[in-house]
Amino acid sequence: RTTLCWLRRDLRLGDHAALAHAQGAGRVLAAFVFDPTLLTGLAPDDARVALIWHSLLEIRQRLRALGSDLAILYGDPAAAIPRLAARIRAHTVFAARDYEPAARARDERVAALLAADGRALELVKDQVVFDTGEVLTREGKPYTVFTPYARAWRARLSPADTGSLAVRLAPDAFLPWRDDEMVSLATLGFADNPIGRAHAGEAAAAQRLAAFEAKIADYHAARDYPAQGGTSQLSAALRFGTVSIRALARTALAHDGAGAQAWLNELVWRDFYQQLLWHFPQVEAGSFKPAFRTLRWPGEEAHFEAWKTGQTGYPLIDAAMRELLQTGWMHNRLRMVVASFLTKDLLIDWRRGEAHFARHLLDFDLAANNGGWQWAASTGCDAQPWFRIFNPVTQSQKFDPDGAYIRRWVPELAALDARAVHAPWQAKALPDGFLLGRDYPAPIVDHAAQRERALALYGKQP
Ligand code: FAD
Repeated sequence: RTTLCWLRRDLRLGDHAALAHAQGAGRVLAAFVFDPTLLTGLAPDDARVALIWHSLLEIRQRLRALGSDLAILYGDPAAAIPRLAARIRAHTVFAARDYEPAARARDERVAALLAADGRALELVKDQVVFDTGEVLTREGKPYTVFTPYARAWRARLSPADTGSLAVRLAPDAFLPWRDDEMVSLATLGFADNPIGRAHAGEAAAAQRLAAFEAKIADYHAARDYPAQGGTSQLSAALRFGTVSIRALARTALAHDGAGAQAWLNELVWRDFYQQLLWHFPQVEAGSFKPAFRTLRWPGEEAHFEAWKTGQTGYPLIDAAMRELLQTGWMHNRLRMVVASFLTKDLLIDWRRGEAHFARHLLDFDLAANNGGWQWAASTGCDAQPWFRIFNPVTQSQKFDPDGAYIRRWVPELAALDARAVHAPWQAKALPDGFLLGRDYPAPIVDHAAQRERALALYGKQP
C-alpha cells in the first residue's frame, strides 16, 4: 500500500506527525505544492519563498539518498494533490491540520475531490501541542482569556503530548520515485534571498534550538531587552515547521527554573492564538470586540509612511521598524511598542500595521500576528486595556537603557549619549554638527497630545 504525505508548514523529516501517520499506513511519497494564489503579490525576492525552497531542497536530498524523492508541484493543490494520489494509487493523503480560514477552505476542497475518487484526506495534529478541542472550559467552550487557558493547558500536559513522532528514514519506508515536475525558484518567478536561505532547513533550526538551550535559564530576565538577544529567534522555524513544537516544549520541560517556565508560557500563547483563530475566524477581518468594529481611525497617510520606513523621530520605534525591513524579524517587546504607537499615537487602523507585518515578517503567522495586533490595539480578546498606552520614550529608557539597540539600527544617532538617544528633541546638548530635523527627524507627533486624542477616540465607543 502507498500513501501520500502532503507537506505544508511542516518542512522537516524528524518528529513529524503527518509522516509518522503516513508510514503507519504504507510506503510514503512526500510532496509539496507551490500554490499560485499564495505566491501572488509577494516581492520577487521574498525571503519566505527562499526559506521554503531551501528547506525543500534539504528534504529532497535526504529522500533521494533513500531512493525516493520529494515531489515539488506547482498549481492549485485541489488539482495537484488528487492527481498525484491517483498516480501512485494512494488510498489516503496525510497532512498536518492548519487553523487559518483560507487553509481550512482549501483542505475541504481537496478532501471533497479525493473523496469523489474513493480516497481520503487525513489531517493530523502537528502544529500545536493541544488541538482546538483539547483545551476547553468546563462548559466545553473555547477560552478567550489567556491565563485560565494557560492553567488548563498546563494541567492537561503529560509526556505523551510532547513525545517525538518518529519517522523511519529507511529505503523501504518511502516510495521509489523521481520527481519529473522541474519546479525551481526561477520557474516560480522568484530570486534567491540570503536571509531566507540562512533560516532554511531542519539542521539550521536544530542549531538555533541548541544555541538557545544554552541560555534558556536567563530567558525570563533577558527576554525584554532587544539588545541582549535573549530570545530564541525560532519563530520562523516554527512557522515553517523546520522544527516541531513538541521538540521545543520538550526542551522547555527538560529545564527547571524561571527561564524555561517563561519560555514555555510563550509556546502556550502560540497555541492560544491558534485555537482562537480556529474558533473565531472572524478576527481575520476585524476587531474581536464588537464595540471597536465601527471605530474610525483619523490617522494621516504621511504618518503611516514614516512609521513603515522608520522615520517617526522616535528612536526606538524607528530602530525597530528598520530592523524589520532589513532582517524580517522584530523583537516581541518592540512589536508591542510599535503596534501601540501606530494605533494610539498615530491613530491608524491596526489592520494596516498587521498587513505591513504580514508582508515583511519572516515568521508571519496569521494567528500570532492578528492576536498580537489586536492585543496592542486593545480590540482583541484579553487585550491590553485601551486606556493603557505605551510611552515610546519611557519604553526606550527602560528596555534599551544605554541605547545600544537604537544605535545599531539608527546610525545617525550613534554619537548621542545614553540620555539624548531616547528623545533627541528633549536633549540639553547634542553632539557638534548634529542638527535635529536635518540629520534625524523631529518627532512627527507629540506623544502627550496624541495620548489624549486616543483616549477620547477609544472612550467614545459604547
Ligand atoms: P521567543 O521569545 O523565543 O518565543 C518562542 C516562541 O514562542 C516564538 O518563536 C513564537 O513561536 C512563540 N511566541 C512567543 N511569543 C508569542 C506571542 N506573543 N504570541 C504567539 N506566539 C508567541 N509571532 C509570530 O510567530 N508570527 C507573527 O506574525 C507575529 N506577529 C506579532 C505581531 C505583534 C503586534 C506582536 C505584539 C507579536 C507578534 N508575534 C508574532 C509574537 C512574538 O512577537 C514573536 O513570536 C516573537 O517575537 C518571536 O521571537 P522568538 O522566536 O525569539 O520568540
